[in-house]
Formats: sequence, structure tokens, C-alpha cells
Amino acid sequence: MTELMTRWNASHDRLNAATIARDEAFRASNPSRQQIARAQEAYDAAVAAHYAILDEMNAAEDAENRAEEAAAVAAAEAIIRGRERPQGEKEHTMRNTDTMTVTVRDRSAESPWGQGRTSPVTRTVTISAFCPVCGERRGEPFGMNQCDDGAWYWVQRWDNPCGHLDRYPDVIKESESVNMA
Ligand SMILES: [Zn+2]
Repeated sequence: MTELMTRWNASHDRLNAATIARDEAFRASNPSRQQIARAQEAYDAAVAAHYAILDEMNAAEDAENRAEEAAAVAAAEAIIRGRERPQGEKEHTMRNTDTMTVTVRDRSAESPWGQGRTSPVTRTVTISAFCPVCGERRGEPFGMNQCDDGAWYWVQRWDNPCGHLDRYPDVIKESESVNMA
């Protein structure tokens, strides 16, 4: 039991005792005004102490909820960023190189639409580190988990600072020419 719970239980007992004492003071056959005032004072103090502990318990619970929420958000962000990629997959970066190696989805290697269950095929390919349209450096790849028809797979994407979009089929085509060169 936590220290707060111990104090809460003790406070509860104190409040019960104060309530009984006050009721008895009121019910006494010959109650003195002073007796009633003292019992009422003790009762008020017990109520105040009880609510103070309740506030503390609520604050502790809020803090716990906030911590849980933050952990859930962090876990979701990690999944979105693809931190939890399958074992054996390496995140490739393109720092200070003329090429970049990325994992992409290769739809041309998948069975045609309508034939059985979707099973995404991914490929790790090497392409130029520069945009084929304008020659500016491509964006830094980041990994992400994707889901298609219940099948999960991990691929990388990148946002080119120049704004030109790299489509996976073009990337695969480019990688084939890079490898032949
Ligand atoms: Zn470009």
C-alpha cells in the first residue's frame, strides 16, 4: 500500500470517529454548547484533512495518467518513424555519399490485383543521392511501417527539398540503371 493510501485510510477512520463524536454530542441528553462546538470543530478539521488527501490522490493519478499518455504517444511516434523495423533490416543513410540505398515497395514483383491475398514485396536498392530532375540532393530517407490489406511491411521514404517527387517504380528503374553502370 502506498504512503498516500495509508494516510487516506487513517483519515477515513478519523473522519468516522469525528462524525460519531459529533452525533453523540448532539444527541447527549444534556449537551453543552461548548461540547457541541468542539465536536463540530473536530469534525470540520477531519473533513478538511480528508479532502486535502483526496486532492493529493487526484494529483498523483493525473500525473500517472499524463506519464502513461506520454509513453503511448512516444510508442506511436516510434512506430510511425519506423524505429520498430523488422530485425535484420538496416536503416540506410546517404550522408556524404553520391548514392543512397533504400528499401522500397516493388509492386511489379507482386501478384496481379485480384489474384489471392496482397503480399507486399519490398526491395533494397541503390540510387543516386541526387534528384534526377534538377540534380539537387535528395531528402534523407526515413523508415516506416505500412499496412496493405492486413499485410505489414517496412519501407523508406524521403522528402526531396527541391519538391520533386520520387515514385517507387521510377526509383526501381533508376536503381537498375545505376547497377548496370
Ligand atoms: Zn529535384
